[in-house]
Formats: sequence, structure tokens, C-alpha cells
Amino acid sequence: MAILISGKEVSAKVRADVRKECEELKAKGIAPGLAVIIVGDDPASRVYVNNKKKACADVGFVSEEYALPAETTQEELLSLIDTLNKKDEIHGILCQLPLPKHLDEKAVINAISPLKDVDAFHPSNVGRIMIGDYHFLPCTPAGVMELIHYAGIDVSGKSCVVIGRSNIVGKPMAMLLLHENGTVTICHSRTKNLKEICAAADILVAAVGRPKFVTVDMVKDGAVVLDVGINRDENGKLCGDVDFDSVEPKASYITPVPGGVGPMTIAMLMKNTLMAAKLQNGLS
Ligand code: NAD
Repeated sequence: MAILISGKEVSAKVRADVRKECEELKAKGIAPGLAVIIVGDDPASRVYVNNKKKACADVGFVSEEYALPAETTQEELLSLIDTLNKKDEIHGILCQLPLPKHLDEKAVINAISPLKDVDAFHPSNVGRIMIGDYHFLPCTPAGVMELIHYAGIDVSGKSCVVIGRSNIVGKPMAMLLLHENGTVTICHSRTKNLKEICAAADILVAAVGRPKFVTVDMVKDGAVVLDVGINRDENGKLCGDVDFDSVEPKASYITPVPGGVGPMTIAMLMKNTLMAAKLQNGLS
């Protein structure tokens, strides 16, 4: 039986710490502010944006929502970002992805001031992560690391396998494990011998986006299994990338879906926004 690492519990703790620091900042006359931009009416994006706004209210941040129609032009979006970059009361800017096809995501990410880039997607922040000199970490991998720390798991010298190489999750995840002296392997859709590589991992992070992809034969006895996936199974039920029922008895630690990595992402966004407010006020 594995120990369950509860993202609900850890995210509540992170948010409580942010709330406390937010009060301290407010006492100094600084009210952390996050601007969230959403373009179009993608239902999943709407849910994420609503959750982010709720989280801001919960920790005491000011939040501004900019809901733009699907036909918004690139110029209009970039002009809004420019205005927000210059707005002193806004410390963090987040543009909910994916954007409608006619908009250039890369140009939008590049337009956000690196100091306000609380998603840590800007190339300058990505580069800083690479060299280990960063202000912000991308929220999901940072959330996974927070769970690892909370569970008291030492990464140093461990064999770590990350399945998935996206810019948002897989790649930065691997980098964060490397910073903590893990011996890291990144697996992806072209990897050969995936099963054997995963089965040798002390720490296995699944960020594939395929329901129940990681089966029990891919997991070493006593491995730490962190499941980033958010999928629907054949019955429409929320599930991760890990086949939880079969893997859980073999693992030493495991994160559930829902209630694992998911709640950490927004908690880390709050942490980044707080950091942005401090940075922009010379307090960090
Ligand atoms: P993505 O589609 O950008 O990347 C998936 C990665 O999986 C790719 O790098 C690909 O090479 C790899 N892959 C695909 N098929 C594979 C296979 N057969 N074998 C090995 N590797 C394979 O996805 P993403 O944005 O990195 O997200 C991954 C998952 O994490 C999704 O389920 C997503 O919903 C979830 N997610 C969760 C959170 C959260 O807050 N918990 C945040 C972001 C993403």
C-alpha cells in the first residue's frame, strides 16, 4: 500500500502561506494583483480561469479578468498585454492557453513582461530555470516538487523518469529534478523500451495525457509515482495517466487524480504572483 500524497492538503498549506504573506504586503500598502486574459469561449479554459479567480479571492489578491471575443486580433491582444505590462497594480499576467488558431501563442508569451510572467513561459524565464537562477517556476512542475518535498522524499542520486517532454510540464519537470541531483531520463512518444526505462525508476512522473497509460508492469517496487495527467476514462470519469488501482499497491508514494497534482498548479500560480508583487516592489 502506497502513501497517498494529497495535493488538496499541500495546496491548502501553500495557499495559507501565501494568504499570510499577502496580508503582510497589504500592511505595507502593496496589494498583489493578477490579470487573467481569456480569448474565446473554450469551456475548459473558462473553468480554469474561474478557478484562478476564486483562488485569488481566497488568498486576498486583486484579480482582473479580460474576457475577449474569439475574433480578437493579434494586435488587440498584444495591445492589452502592453497596457497590463505598464499597469502598476498588476503584478502577474496570465493568458489562458490554448488561444484560437489565428493567434500566435509564441508572440503572446514573448510579449508578457518576464517580471510579470507568472506562468514562467517566457523564454527569458525558461532560460533562467535552465541555469537554476529563477524567480518563477512553471506552476505544474513546481507543484510536483512541492509534493515531493512535503512527503520528505530525497531526489538526490535517485533514478528519475519523466514521461512527456512538453515545454509546460515534461521539460521543466526534468530540469527541476536535475537541480535536486536526480539522474533524470525524459521519455516521449518516440522512446524505445519505455516499459523497461520506467520500471527502473525510483521516481516516476507521468505527463503524457493518456488515461491509465502507466500500468503496473512499468513501475518498480517501492517507486514514487507522480501523476500529472488529467483525462477522462471510458466512462467519462476523471483519471490520471497512471492506472491507479493496479499501481498503488506496488508504489511507496503516489498522487491521486483528482486531488493530487491538479490543485497544486493553481496554488503555485498564487505563489508566483506573490513573488512577482515582491519583485516589482524591491522586496525580493
Ligand atoms: P502534451 O500533449 O503537450 O505532451 C504529452 C507528452 O507525452 C509529449 O511530449 C509526448 O511525447 C508524450 N507522449 C505521448 N504519447 C506517448 C507515448 N505513447 N509514450 C511516451 N510518451 C508519449 O501534454 P502536456 O501539456 O505536457 O500535459 C500532459 C498531461 O498533463 C495532460 O493530461 C494534461 O491535461 C495534464 N496537465 C495537468 C496539469 C495539472 O495542473 N495537473 C497541468 C498541465 C497539464
